[in-house]
Amino acid sequence: MQIRTVGIVGAGQMGNGIAHVFALAGFDVLLNDISTEALSAGIKTITGNMTRQVSRNKITEEQMNAALERITTTETLSDLGQSDLIIEAATEKETVKQSIFDALLPHLKPETILASNTSSISITRLASRTDRPERFMGVHFMNPVPVMELVELIRGIATDEPTFDALKEVVKRLGKVSTSAEDFPAFIVNRILMPMINEAIYTLYEGVGTVKGIDTSMKLGAHHPMGPLELADFIGLDTCLAIMNVLHEGLADTKYRPCPLLTKYVEAGWYGRKVGRGFYDYRGDEPVPTR
Ligand code: NAD
Repeated sequence: MQIRTVGIVGAGQMGNGIAHVFALAGFDVLLNDISTEALSAGIKTITGNMTRQVSRNKITEEQMNAALERITTTETLSDLGQSDLIIEAATEKETVKQSIFDALLPHLKPETILASNTSSISITRLASRTDRPERFMGVHFMNPVPVMELVELIRGIATDEPTFDALKEVVKRLGKVSTSAEDFPAFIVNRILMPMINEAIYTLYEGVGTVKGIDTSMKLGAHHPMGPLELADFIGLDTCLAIMNVLHEGLADTKYRPCPLLTKYVEAGWYGRKVGRGFYDYRGDEPVPTR
């Protein structure tokens, strides 16, 4: 199964990072989003991140220019139909993902592999509603995609071996390492990471520590490179809440109950870094805790 062209749905934090690494590895990329602004912001981010890689001698200017030329943007989802592989990296809502796959199906060639970058939603369930559950997989990139080494590969119950092997090979071509996770809520990384972040928010909610106190404690006391609240803002609080809800509902265990304070921040639209405000306010020169 030769994969040359890759369609990416969603040009947000993850989608543009995924487009970045595929284009640098020599794949032709078609990047789609429903929002024109997200597409132009995505290309701007990719250009900025590649320029930084050039200045740090990680890639040459020629490699950057060639990679940028390999990326085409489109607001028309059906343009992605003829890709060999399509990775959905849109908002973490099952209804959104469902409608994207529904809209793609009539335009696909028979051998196209479908994949989702979902952080937590059942791959088996997403796959079962398509015409190709055997050629459907979870391909979970980490944020920021150009920097993080890992990709979790998640087989749905029906995913066949050639599809899994093809994706394993693709991850290798990207210069990344894959791990295989079973299709249970939030897979491996987020199953462990998100309850830790949620617990940090409970620690704040119950007044055990301040935003700064909690982040400093985990950075200096546990040698985490980022504090859990900083990390939550970086991931996106809407995404964190969506993942906690999937864990809570999928495993039916109260230990995964999303912290009410996390819900409150999401209700306020304070989603973290991507909107300028979350547990910190990023609109000034320095991030300032918001409580
Ligand atoms: P984001 O909010 O930055 O981007 C989502 C993008 O999807 C937006 O640009 C939005 O316009 C677009 N979109 C929404 N509906 C669409 C549609 N119908 N068609 C095309 N585009 C559409 O979110 P993100 O952080 O990039 O997350 C995307 C996915 O990646 C989610 O499934 C998330 O769980 C997963 N993920 C996120 C992280 C993280 O750290 N943020 C890590 C791994 C995986």
